[in-house]
Amino acid sequence: MKCDPTLYRAAPPSLAVKPRLIRHLFLPPLIIALMIGLGYIGFWVSEHYGIRSLSENGQRQLELHARAVESEISKYTYLPSLLELESSVSKLLDEPSSETRQTVNEYLEGLNRRSRSRAIYVMDTTGRVLATSNWRDVDSYLGEDLSFRAYFQNAVRGQPGRFYGIGSTNGEPGYYLAHGLEEHGKIIGVAVVKVRLEAMEERWQRARLEAFVSDENGIIILSSDPARRLKSVVPLSDETKEKLARSLQYYWFPLNELQPLARETLAEGVEKLTFPANSELASDEQDITYLAQTRPLSDTPWNFTLLTPLADLRREAINQGILVAVAFALVAFLLIAWNERRKVIATRLAAREALQEANNQLERRITERTTDLRASNERLKGQIRERRQAEETLRRAQDELVQAGKLAAIGQMSTSIAHELNQPLAALRTLSGNTVRFLERGQLDVASTNLKTINELIDRMGRITASLRSFARRGDDKGQASLGKAVDAALQLLGSRMESAHLDLHRDFNDVQVQIDQTRLEQILVNLIGNALDAMQSQPLPALWLEGEEYDGKYRLRVRDNGHGIDAEARKHLFEPFFTTKPGEQGLGLGLTLSASLAAATGGHLGVEHPASGGTTFVLSLPLVSPTPAEPI
Ligand code: ADP
Repeated sequence: MKCDPTLYRAAPPSLAVKPRLIRHLFLPPLIIALMIGLGYIGFWVSEHYGIRSLSENGQRQLELHARAVESEISKYTYLPSLLELESSVSKLLDEPSSETRQTVNEYLEGLNRRSRSRAIYVMDTTGRVLATSNWRDVDSYLGEDLSFRAYFQNAVRGQPGRFYGIGSTNGEPGYYLAHGLEEHGKIIGVAVVKVRLEAMEERWQRARLEAFVSDENGIIILSSDPARRLKSVVPLSDETKEKLARSLQYYWFPLNELQPLARETLAEGVEKLTFPANSELASDEQDITYLAQTRPLSDTPWNFTLLTPLADLRREAINQGILVAVAFALVAFLLIAWNERRKVIATRLAAREALQEANNQLERRITERTTDLRASNERLKGQIRERRQAEETLRRAQDELVQAGKLAAIGQMSTSIAHELNQPLAALRTLSGNTVRFLERGQLDVASTNLKTINELIDRMGRITASLRSFARRGDDKGQASLGKAVDAALQLLGSRMESAHLDLHRDFNDVQVQIDQTRLEQILVNLIGNALDAMQSQPLPALWLEGEEYDGKYRLRVRDNGHGIDAEARKHLFEPFFTTKPGEQGLGLGLTLSASLAAATGGHLGVEHPASGGTTFVLSLPLVSPTPAEPI
């Protein structure tokens, strides 16, 4: 059964391709761009909040360590002023003598040892060192003029001298606290305590703390990283540099600027600084970024800066960024997969629905067609029934016609049969009368001969009547006949006419078995040969040819005569019932019609040919029972 092709027609492709192509082209770069963007945002947010949390934590650390620095510095503040109370010091300043100097030297030495400061010394108002705790050392300050020192200049004016510098004698850095020694309201000298603050640096290093202290000039005076020491955290003008060099505060150190690779101010006192990797503390070769938190130290113009490395934070932020990007990629992948799956399901559903619809339509059509077929089947059955009835009627009519034809033939033949029988009957009467007389005379031989002749005549008569009976008998469509026997029977039936006609008979056929009732074949042959005899009545040398040949599973027998032939008009109506050219009672016009229908009923055929040499040939084709030809007759 054919399906409707429109049911399976594909959707027009032109509309669907374009958006899909665009989606396939632009989706991957878009996802990658979003991944990078979101990853960066993740990194930025993580770093931002990380810095905030670090800075809060750092603020506490800053406070703690700044206080430690403050307490370290302030614990010596009182020390120089203590010397005001010492009478030997006042005495030395009033009247310097070597004895008093020695006394003060020893006093200062003892004080220095107890206070664990670096050095304690006393200067007069001109800045010359009169006594010092390190009087025993080779590089003792004794007698040195330190009037150029800012702490002296401040202290001599009655101001507290706070000063970080590098010693001009031995180049040793230290924190100097100076105090103007007063007597009766007048400054008579200056007491100075030099303190070393390196212990703090060591403490920071031990605690793995990165920090530095910058002084009022912006110079790093204390640093956990020695490389940063004596570097400037603010740009120094040439003028300032010259002034600082003149003061010898930092001895002859070049005071280079501590230049970060990047500097970002995050808040008041909070900066992000990136230093190159040449620092001693840097374990690897990467640049180091710090969160720098600065706070001024009280009582001094100094600043304390705490450096918190951001490497861990940055690594954490990068991880977070990667995590966000990967999470986004995963979500995007899941969404795409979900979308694809949804589309596949939708397509499947649509295909299933289309299939269902096509199926329904097909079923509807099948039902319609089945109904149509049933109706036409019923019609055909009706027609077949009608045909069968018509065939039955026809067959009955044909049978009746055959029978009528037979009866007609019998009627026709009855004259000749009567004639045929009268002759032997007359002969019998004569012979029997003669035999009686010969017996009375005792001529037994002649009587016996006569009796034999009488027997033969009786046999002949019996044969004539038997043929007539078999001819009149109703036949059967099926059956098989011997051609030789049928020809013999027909010739015997027509024997008297043939004898009177002095016919020249030519037999050239095989005694084959053909598929037809024996009687019917005889009947056909009697008709054909009888017609030939009729046609040759006026022929002085009548001749009849019976020629056979096997052809395509059939046997073809030609019955040819040299009679008057058939004219053109008669040829048209030859096989029509009741067509005859014979005068009066001689022809019924049924012979050929019946013969043709008898041949056709067994699958054979009766046709006619009109040879150019004259006469007529009837061609009888009948199916063979066995295609092997029998012996020729
Ligand atoms: P009928 O013999 O009763 O006329 P047929 O059907 O046998 O009926 O023949 C019809 C006619 O065909 C005959 O009247 C005759 O004119 C013609 N016919 C048949 N056989 C021959 C023949 N062998 N030669 C010439 N004419 C023939």
